Amino acid sequence: MYIDLLGEPFASKDTRLSLTRKVQKQLLDEANARWPHEYSALLYGRGTAICGHIAMPASNHDRHSFSWNGPDFLQALKQIRQTRMQWLGVLHSHPHTPPIPSSRDAAGWHYPSLSYWILGMQTPATPLWRGYQWVDGEFDVRSYTVSDDSE
Ligand SMILES: [Zn+2]
Repeated sequence: MYIDLLGEPFASKDTRLSLTRKVQKQLLDEANARWPHEYSALLYGRGTAICGHIAMPASNHDRHSFSWNGPDFLQALKQIRQTRMQWLGVLHSHPHTPPIPSSRDAAGWHYPSLSYWILGMQTPATPLWRGYQWVDGEFDVRSYTVSDDSE
């Protein structure tokens, strides 16, 4: 159903995953505004380049896992499709813990082709960014670049 919509940001060995500086800043600002609660967003773009995001409403205030309401999730996917972009990943914050996926994060992740980002905000002045790929039943840290592309 969403074949074109679902990206494969790790499919290219030659091009590294990237995130625009603008999106990175917006994610950080919004995660700070949501603190001490968890923040989450869908990330979209083309190929390996993330150039936009959609903040997701919190469906609970659980500090150790994130989940979305079905209608919110489908609405966000529809929005990505309308911009003719691809869904490339998700990000959520860990307001009180390091940016390491919890066992519940692993259990709740169903899109292995996408990138999985965690923003560690234990020390809000020095946020820790981690991008992961799900490989053989576990999250592997992936390097990425921050680009200055405007669009
Ligand atoms: Zn988590």
